[in-house]
Amino acid sequence: MVKHRFFVPREQFTDGIVRIVGENARQIRTVLRLRPSDEIGVLDGAGNEYHCVLEAMRKDEVVARIHHVMSVDTEPDVHITVVQSLAKGEKVEQVIQHGTEIGVSRFLIVHTDRSVVRLDGERERGRVQRWQRIAKEAAEQARRAKIPEVNGVVSLGEALQGLEGTKTALLHPAHTSVSLVEWMESDDTINGVAVIVGPEGGFTEREVALCEQFGASAVSLMPRILRTETAALVAVSQILLMVGVRGTRQGTSL
Ligand code: SAH
Repeated sequence: MVKHRFFVPREQFTDGIVRIVGENARQIRTVLRLRPSDEIGVLDGAGNEYHCVLEAMRKDEVVARIHHVMSVDTEPDVHITVVQSLAKGEKVEQVIQHGTEIGVSRFLIVHTDRSVVRLDGERERGRVQRWQRIAKEAAEQARRAKIPEVNGVVSLGEALQGLEGTKTALLHPAHTSVSLVEWMESDDTINGVAVIVGPEGGFTEREVALCEQFGASAVSLMPRILRTETAALVAVSQILLMVGVRGTRQGTSL
């Protein structure tokens, strides 16, 4: 299997050649220091991985020749949205990186009553771009067929409006909550689930009530209190176990 993979837009594929530009080209040339005749995998975001050999390394593009194509069948059967509250430091980055490896399809970043971090317009745009880059790189490393979407930053109310019609859990560590597993068991026709994860200080009563108004159920993961960046990953793992993890590898030659 190739060591390095890159998502490349379809329009950069022509006649058995892939023209790699921008950040991907910079990675190949200056970060990884790959050379002509080195092998890479190119992902098209539509479920194919092209096994390529580098041919030419120009200043603003790297040319790779396609040798064979394989279908990438690694996406889970369930579409999982993680609604992650803004949190301090690198926590959101960690959730996006590891959540992508495990199989999250979409991250929606929200600010909540107890989110300590506030981002203004410019910084917010920069942060969202950084999160999208992290999702792309994690998806390449994990050999995902698709890059997860990263959207935000929106209010919890806006996020809930966008999720209407999706089976949604509010992760809430209270012993009165049902467990995520029991909540999943009560419905066997799930193809999309959203989980809402609170910030370091948890959700306020107002937010719990708001989520319930929108039809989200408060669920608990375990009796112990997890950090915000741990909670999303545990929830996603539990959902995947309940739905059945999928991911096989198939190869077909051109
Ligand atoms: N101090 C808060 C804990 C916040 S933990 C409190 O006591 O409520 C941060 C977030 O992680 C929580 O808002 C929740 O969404 C999630 N979380 C942590 N542990 C959890 C558990 N055992 N079950 C469900 N959600 C949990």
